[in-house]
Parts: sequence; structure tokens; C-alpha cells
Amino acid sequence: MKKPDAGAKLLVVDDNQSNLDILLRLLDAYDVMVAPDGLEAIEILRREAPDVILLDIVMPGMDGYEVCRQIKSHPKWRDIPILFITAKTDEASLLRAYDVGGSDYVTKPFRSRELLARVRTQVEYRRAMEKLRLMAVTDDLTKTHNRRAFFHSATRLFEQARTTGGPLAALMLDIDHFKRINDLYGHATGDEALRRFSRTVAGQLEPKHLFGRLGGEEFAVLAPHCSEAEADALGERICAAVSQIRLEPPADELDLSVSIGVSHILEGSENFDDLLRIADRRLFEAKRNGRNRVRRVSR
Ligand code: GH3
Ligand code: MG
Ligand code: MG
Repeated sequence: MKKPDAGAKLLVVDDNQSNLDILLRLLDAYDVMVAPDGLEAIEILRREAPDVILLDIVMPGMDGYEVCRQIKSHPKWRDIPILFITAKTDEASLLRAYDVGGSDYVTKPFRSRELLARVRTQVEYRRAMEKLRLMAVTDDLTKTHNRRAFFHSATRLFEQARTTGGPLAALMLDIDHFKRINDLYGHATGDEALRRFSRTVAGQLEPKHLFGRLGGEEFAVLAPHCSEAEADALGERICAAVSQIRLEPPADELDLSVSIGVSHILEGSENFDDLLRIADRRLFEAKRNGRNRVRRVSR
């Protein structure tokens, strides 16, 4: 038998202690959390992120179908596979388990190795989906948000700021004379410069900031709860940090620099595209004025 996926977390929901004992013994290679009912299961989901949920159907209070329905209607939990484990063997019960969003079904009394195989399949499925989800939002080279993920989150943050009246700033960043790096030292050095640049910028950011690669050597930062002065200062810090980057020889003779344009929601942007357009216009001005500089909101 294949070993269970290392470190996978399971949540087992069952009101019957002797069932739980059997399952816990069987699943001892996993990190298992236990809930005696649906309410407790939901409580656990608020603070833990299991890879797979094993769910009994017949329980006092909320039954397994209802627990499943609630989990599947929650945006953060809906992708966790649910494996029903129940004494109900009639076809209608089985079909209902799939109708409410269950991924698989094991009837009691279950065969141990079959149950383990089914759990492992769901864990592997969950892992594969997580990997794909991450790949879909990450820029492969720099590991920052890719363009699509950046715009998706940025649009949401912009709408939030509009409704709450909170301040919000955008910074457009474009590495200066980047083409030269490729031309002088080759594409691999250019790639390394992009990675170093991304790490350096990320080092200047706080968790609340959104950072993404919009394409090529062009990046953007969205800074929620950030005044104009703070956004300008952030731009200056990034600019200074980038100018400190030293690439590996022979590219160490090169001075890396970035031009940045800053914009702020309080200047009257109607939507996120507006906000970014103003930052982009200022980025262009920063380039025109000599590069390696920030074109601030306030002058
Ligand atoms: P400016 O100061 O005006 O911004 O000049 P620049 O050379 O930085 O700008 P330009 O847009 O002319 O050139 C950008 C270059 O970035 C061209 C392209 O080959 C290179 N580039 C884009 N994506 C990648 C990448 O993923 N890896 C590498 N190595 N180079 C890339
Ligand atoms: Mg450039
Ligand atoms: Mg460019």
C-alpha cells in the first residue's frame, strides 16, 4: 500500500465514539481533528484548514447533508472534499450525498483498506487542486501575483476602499533600461534580475500590500489604508532599495534602478483602471525626467 500523503490534515465528524475510535486508529498516519457534531465541525473550520472532511450522515441536531451544504456554501471551505461515511446504503441517500456536494461515499461497516484508499484519493485530489489554484494566480518567474490575480484582488480592494471611504494608493514600477541587461549578459541574467528585483520590492512591503507582475519588467503595488504621503514614501523606499541591488559578476558592474509612478484614490479615481492609469502616466513622467525616481502624488 502507498503511504498516506505526509502531513495531510483530516477532519472527522461523527457522533459515535466507537466509530471515532476505529477511524482514529485507522487514520493514525494523518493529522486528524475530531468533531462530535456539525456545529463543532464548523467551529474547527473557522481556525483550521483540513485537506479532507470525513462526514457521518446520521447525527443528532444537524445531519451530515446539512453540514455538507453549509460547508459548500462557504467560499473558503467549499473546495475541501467531503467523504461521507455512513450506515445508509440506499441509493437515494447516496445520490443525495453527491447532490449536496459530497465527493465520495463509504458505507459502514467499511473495509479498512478501501477507506484508506478513498481518503488518499481525496487528499491527492485536494493537493492537486491547490497546486493548480496557486499556479493560476502566481507569476512563475518571480512568484508574485500574476497580472490576472493582481487585477482581480486590486479591483476588490478598490471597491472596498470606495465603500468604506478608506485611503488607497497605487504604484506602477518599471525597471530602467532592462533590455540592456538581456543584451549585455543574456536572458538568464535578466531573469535573475527580475527575481532579485521582486524580492527587494517585497522586502519593503507590509502584508496588507498587494504586489504583482503586470508583464515583462513592469510591476504594480496596491497599498490599502495608505495616505498620499505614505504612498510617496513607500515609492522612495522601493526606489532606494532597488538601487542597492548588486547582481552576480559580471553583471555586478550594472546599476539596477526603477522608475515609479504613484497615484491615490482621493485624487478622484472612479475605478481601479482610473487609479492605475494615473500611476502609469506618472511612471512615464518619471522615465522622461531621467529614470531612477518616483513621480509622487504630491510635489
Ligand atoms: P525603459 O527604461 O524605458 O523602461 O527601458 P527598458 O529597456 O526597461 O524597457 P523595454 O520595454 O524597451 O524593454 C523591456 C525588456 O524586458 C524587453 C524584454 O525582452 C525584456 N523582458 C520582458 N520579460 C522578460 C523576462 O521574463 N525575462 C527577461 N530576461 N527579459 C524580459
Ligand atoms: Mg523598463
Ligand atoms: Mg516596460
